[in-house]
Amino acid sequence: MIPMVDLKRQYRNLKPEIDKAIQAVLESANFILGENVTKLEEEIALYHNISHATGVGSGTDALLLALDALGIGEGDEVITTPFTFIATAEVVANLKAVPVFVDIDPETYNINPDKIEEKITERTKAIIPVHLFGHPAEMDRIVAIGKKHNLKIIEDCAQAFGAEFKGKKVGTFGDCGCFSFFPSKNLAAYGDGGMIITDDDGTAKKIRMLRNHGTFVKYHHKIVGYNSRLDNIQAAIVRVKFKNIDQFNDSRIRNAEIYRENIKRDDTILPEEKNGSKHVYHQFTIRSGKREAIRECLNNSQIASAIYYPVPLHKQEVFANLDRKVDSLPASEGCAAEVLSLPMFPELTKREILHICDVINNVSR
Ligand SMILES: *Cc1c(COP(=O)(O)O)cnc(C)c1O
Repeated sequence: MIPMVDLKRQYRNLKPEIDKAIQAVLESANFILGENVTKLEEEIALYHNISHATGVGSGTDALLLALDALGIGEGDEVITTPFTFIATAEVVANLKAVPVFVDIDPETYNINPDKIEEKITERTKAIIPVHLFGHPAEMDRIVAIGKKHNLKIIEDCAQAFGAEFKGKKVGTFGDCGCFSFFPSKNLAAYGDGGMIITDDDGTAKKIRMLRNHGTFVKYHHKIVGYNSRLDNIQAAIVRVKFKNIDQFNDSRIRNAEIYRENIKRDDTILPEEKNGSKHVYHQFTIRSGKREAIRECLNNSQIASAIYYPVPLHKQEVFANLDRKVDSLPASEGCAAEVLSLPMFPELTKREILHICDVINNVSR
């Protein structure tokens, strides 16, 4: 079986270093926050050439705490894409704010900047662009819209660690950039974890308080916070992988190139790198009217595939009663009906990819 992602292969390659890092934390008996969290925060801030990075409990919490720190709350409207994982919009609803969905550009699967302004009202407070599958959203135009209407921008970088838009890393365009270390992400832990980056001192300070029960000085609570701390073991694991992140992303890019050169079907659209983007291929997602047939042949050949995402968020039951419900976002719905993600991870071999391409090319037209 060729899986979507093979974490066992990666662990085999990194085992001595990872085992040693975990062992050291066990011996230090320092588990919540701790030295590895502080060091990882410094390393990730430096990598992004930004002033602050704060480790939190998950990618979802990264979004939640960023929105909370930026003052998003009851009745505020937050513009985002419906073609994403639920967490992007769930956190908006958690704060009693209202997600407002804007259709996507079907070529990048990201929010379409042409359609944002028509959704802005007096209550709009923020935009959450998602760099879906590792392809950056069009940040120059999104930042310009944000400036013009005085909106906060929170980048959902959960799938895009190391991706770049016009030579600048994602996460550094908006007020906050939010990352996930969920085990299958490009930079990952062996459990839940996340990180928020920002250049604003006040926002960083607030996020630090929020993640630890609204506390700055122990047992003195200034604001209502959360328990959302990255732990020392997960940070130690992420630090080992972080040393290799550029190499891992390069392998993904090389794998994408092999897929692109060898899938030959004129009824299938392959992912492109648009608008001066560095795509880091968290997923390699194709689009085809023949999706079900391709999927079945892959499955019969012991090759995994996955549909991200089968139901866009404006069609989800949980958002059926939204204040500003939209009935139809045709690009998102069209993509949801036709996308198919193929196995993608740094350790995937050329031979495996050629085999996958072969199976796809032989599906009847
Ligand atoms: C994974 C993911 C999240 C949530 O991250 P967790 O660490 O699982 O909470 C948010 N947004 C997107 C786009 C994701 O892919």
